[in-house]
Amino acid sequence: MQVDIAIVGGGIAGASAAYFLSKHGSVALIEREEHFGYHSSGRTAAQFTVGISADTMRRMAQASRGFLEAPPPGFAEGALLSPRGCLTVGRHENEARLTRLADRLAKAGARAQRLDRDEALALFPALRPEVFDLGVYEADAMDIDVDRLLQGYLRGARAAGARLVTAAGIEAIAKEDGRWRLAWPGGEIVAQTIVNAAGAWADEMAAMAGLRPIGNVPHRRTAFTFALQKEFDTRNWPHLGTAADDWYVKPEPGCLMGSLSDAVPVAPGDAYPEDIDIAQAIANIERDTRLHVGRPLSQWAGLRSFVQDREPVAGAHRDEASFFWLAGQGGCGILTSPAMGQAIAALVAGSPLPPLIAEHGVSEADLSPRRSGLA
Ligand SMILES: Cc1cc2nc3c(=O)[nH]c(=O)nc-3n(C[C@H](O)[C@H](O)[C@H](O)COP(=O)(O)OP(=O)(O)OC[C@H]3O[C@@H](n4cnc5c(N)ncnc54)[C@H](O)[C@@H]3O)c2cc1C
Repeated sequence: MQVDIAIVGGGIAGASAAYFLSKHGSVALIEREEHFGYHSSGRTAAQFTVGISADTMRRMAQASRGFLEAPPPGFAEGALLSPRGCLTVGRHENEARLTRLADRLAKAGARAQRLDRDEALALFPALRPEVFDLGVYEADAMDIDVDRLLQGYLRGARAAGARLVTAAGIEAIAKEDGRWRLAWPGGEIVAQTIVNAAGAWADEMAAMAGLRPIGNVPHRRTAFTFALQKEFDTRNWPHLGTAADDWYVKPEPGCLMGSLSDAVPVAPGDAYPEDIDIAQAIANIERDTRLHVGRPLSQWAGLRSFVQDREPVAGAHRDEASFFWLAGQGGCGILTSPAMGQAIAALVAGSPLPPLIAEHGVSEADLSPRRSGLA
């Protein structure tokens, strides 16, 4: 198989890259697992928020909103976003942190409201009133239909001629006669350009090609679902997190999702939840709310991968112009995927970043793997 661009990694990053790049040349999207979105992209809280502390990441979120609100005709059968406000609560001693969050939201054009305890309780009646004093509410945060978004990218890429290959774990990458040869057990592909969208494995992928890493570190986060209690109608509850960042809860169809908001550096791999993290999350949620978690209905863990400055990375490798990074999306890879996909398509094509991204103040240098601090 021979293509212009081989994209390695079939999570949301690789799928969005395939969608936008297939307009520029022949593309193959290569995924190790049996199906796309098996790793981080299939294990998220599915949230759209602009309350993100990393500056470029927040701008890429803002630049992504339009696509998620109104994707191109035929992209998906139904909406990608549905309303789900995001409430962050804290004590008086967390006031500075909550003020910074409110300022960020306002700067990003979000509808940010400062709430007192009663107002926070009205939004999330299961909170224990004695443990919180104030809150910040992002009224126009959203739930993302992640599977619909992923399938939309894949369908669009396929329709534009991209080849979608699963069960193909790349094990060797070599450059021969100016072209890349990528091999997996039982197959290989030759490409002019590689896009490394391997998520937690992004540094490993570079090493396979004999290239330097960028210091991409996966961090495990544990999550679970638990049963609804009859006394609460949770359907319109917001996503609720704490200023101390020690748990969050959000409504899911027929249940609630909870997490410890943990971030444990780990080696790339198929992440599994640790009992201790689940137990600590349950203890924190039951300490601060009247929710009875009991035994989780389901539990999982996923990896959020960060580089040193916690900003996303898109651009050519510092030593190799035909090897592109699309990495470091941390906890925002789903919600930033429209802008990140469009950015990598422009960068691979050698074009300026699309106006939509530039208008939000993001430059090539902001996304560059050559910026300072990256290995
Ligand atoms: C609990 C949790 C909650 C989250 N909540 C949110 C949220 O609310 N909103 C949000 O925007 N983001 C959220 N995230 C973050 C989001 O999941 C990630 O930023 C995003 O999924 C990263 O996408 P990716 O495509 O880079 O990685 P992945 O989805 O992990 O995809 C990388 C793919 O590369 C493949 N691969 C690796 N090596 C090879 C190889 N050698 N050959 C072939 N294929 C290879 C892997 O199999 C994998 O499928 C959350 C993450 C977690 C864990």
